[in-house]
Amino acid sequence: MARPGILIVLSGPSGTGKGTICKELLNNYPNINYSISATTRSPRAGEVNGVNYWFVSQAEFQEMIKNDALLEWAEVYGNYYGTPRRYVEELLANGKDIVLEIDTQGAMQVKNKFPEGVFIYIVPPSIDELATRINKRGSETPESIKRRLGSVRYELSSAYDYHYVVINDRVSEATAKIEAIISAEKSRVGRNADRIAAISKNGSID
Ligand code: ADP
Ligand code: 5GP
Repeated sequence: MARPGILIVLSGPSGTGKGTICKELLNNYPNINYSISATTRSPRAGEVNGVNYWFVSQAEFQEMIKNDALLEWAEVYGNYYGTPRRYVEELLANGKDIVLEIDTQGAMQVKNKFPEGVFIYIVPPSIDELATRINKRGSETPESIKRRLGSVRYELSSAYDYHYVVINDRVSEATAKIEAIISAEKSRVGRNADRIAAISKNGSID
């Protein structure tokens, strides 16, 4: 019996390691799919269109909003980011799991539409370590680093709107925790009511 797909949302302050964890999660868990966001920000060195993001112009982004092609969108640090709707809806309808790595504004829009989604907030072990990671990544201007670090405490307060919090101290441990969360979520009674009913009715879940 095909199981409905699970929608997983990962958020957390910039530089906390969401992208790194997502990569590891996708390596370990080939059945999980990644939603590629559209953004008006410029690609960083090494980022590839259609792999990390769909890099679009302001006009293209506005067109996507107008055509209701985005499941959610938000302005983050002066750029626009959004989740293309069709890919997410198609995968879920086909019983596939999908992970969205998006900011808290977008996550709350998704939570309104998919309250059965699994919302995970990733935090760094400390703000000093977060600053080290953003600096080490070397992708931001000093101005952008200041902006990202300046909003960390405010951003952390939004963790209470999520279902789980995972501390990204070591990538392997944080990823293992997320895998455990997904596994537990798949066993929720609410996601298995049809199986219980099938055993009751037919003597078997098949
Ligand atoms: P985000 O996607 O949350 O903005 P990234 O995944 O780009 O963050 O990670 C930011 C930087 O921190 C990268 O250079 C990455 O290699 C590093 N990093 C991520 N997780 C860890 C960790 N657990 N320990 C040390 N460095 C990490
Ligand atoms: P970055 O520029 O570092 O890749 O991402 C900046 C922020 O934008 C991160 O908090 C990231 O989670 C968020 N983000 C990435 N894609 C999306 C998206 O599709 N929608 C929303 N709302 N936020 C996104």
